[in-house]
Formats: sequence, C-alpha cells, structure tokens
Amino acid sequence: MSETTEIEVPETSEAGSIADLVRKMIVQLGEDPNREGLRRTPERYEKALRFLTSGYRQDPEKLLNGAMFSVCYDEMVVVRDIELYSLCEHHLLPFFGRCHVAYIPNKKVVGLSKIARMVNMYARRLQIQERLTNQIARTIEEKLSPQGVGVIVEARHLCMVMRGVEKQHSTATTSAMLGVFRENKQTRDEFLALVRGGKV
Ligand SMILES: [Zn+2]
Repeated sequence: MSETTEIEVPETSEAGSIADLVRKMIVQLGEDPNREGLRRTPERYEKALRFLTSGYRQDPEKLLNGAMFSVCYDEMVVVRDIELYSLCEHHLLPFFGRCHVAYIPNKKVVGLSKIARMVNMYARRLQIQERLTNQIARTIEEKLSPQGVGVIVEARHLCMVMRGVEKQHSTATTSAMLGVFRENKQTRDEFLALVRGGKV
C-alpha cells in the first residue's frame, strides 16, 4: 500500500456520539459538565474535532483532478509558507507551522491553490509530522510525475511545548526529497535557499 492510498473511512459516527464521550471525560477530569461554561462544550468539541479530521473524507484524486495543466515549463515551482494545523496522533494535541513545497514539472503542473488545499487535507487527520511530509510529496509525485519534489514542514508541537518536554520555542523540521531533489544537490540547495531567503 503506498503512502497515499486512501483508506476506506466508515460513515461518520452518529452526531452526538463524540459529545457523549467528552461529557464523560469532563466528569473524569473532576469537573461538572452541567456548569454553565461547560454545558455546550461537548457539542462544540465534537464539531471542532470533526472539522479538524475532515481530511479523512477528502480524496486527493478529486482535489487535484481538473486542476492539472500541460505546460512547456521545467523550472522549479515553489509554494512557500503554507500555514498548517494538524493533530498529533500520539496525544491528540495540535501541531502547527509552515510547509514549503517545490517541484520541477515534467509537462504537467497543478494550480498553486490546490497544493495548499492538499496540504490541509493531509493535515486535517491524526498525524505524525514525518508521515504528513511524505504524503504531500508522494501525492505530487504520483499525480504530476514531475522530475522531482521537495517538501519541508516546520512545526511546533503543543504536546511537547505545553508539557515542557522540549524548550518552549523548539521547532521540528521534516523534509521529503524525491527525484532530482534527492539526486541533485544543486536543485536541493536552490530549494533550501528559496525557502530560507524568503524570495521566490
Ligand atoms: Zn504528541
């Protein structure tokens, strides 16, 4: 099974089923779920969580198809600073930061906004940063067959910073380099310089 193979997601569980669990969780935490400020919290939390995991119900195929174009362009395409918000699958706490995506086309390109939407789609799932980074790169590789792809994700994990596991400002950086980005140091360096230099 490749990184981007879609898993069959069961029909979303019944509305209210997550809220019921959250109500029980609030009791277990020693709080009163009927207290005014908490009364509607379970429903709010369920709504938020369903949104934050809505990427399971999106299909990269549908997202990118129809937005791909044939071109005679073989220079690097770079999309910098895509904002990213995800949930760490080990703690169900947010990690967030920025994603930089680059590829060198091989006769095919995709609308730039679709790349940001694809990043969101994979981010809105229970994730680890490494897998998220790979899924973004693999999807571009599969759909566009480019000469190469580079993806860098820089993120802060609340499971680390809030629990004091790491220094407050620590950022985790992950990257996936495929094709010419892996084989050719010059291409990789060009991408890194564009990301660091802030100019594209
Ligand atoms: Zn975590």
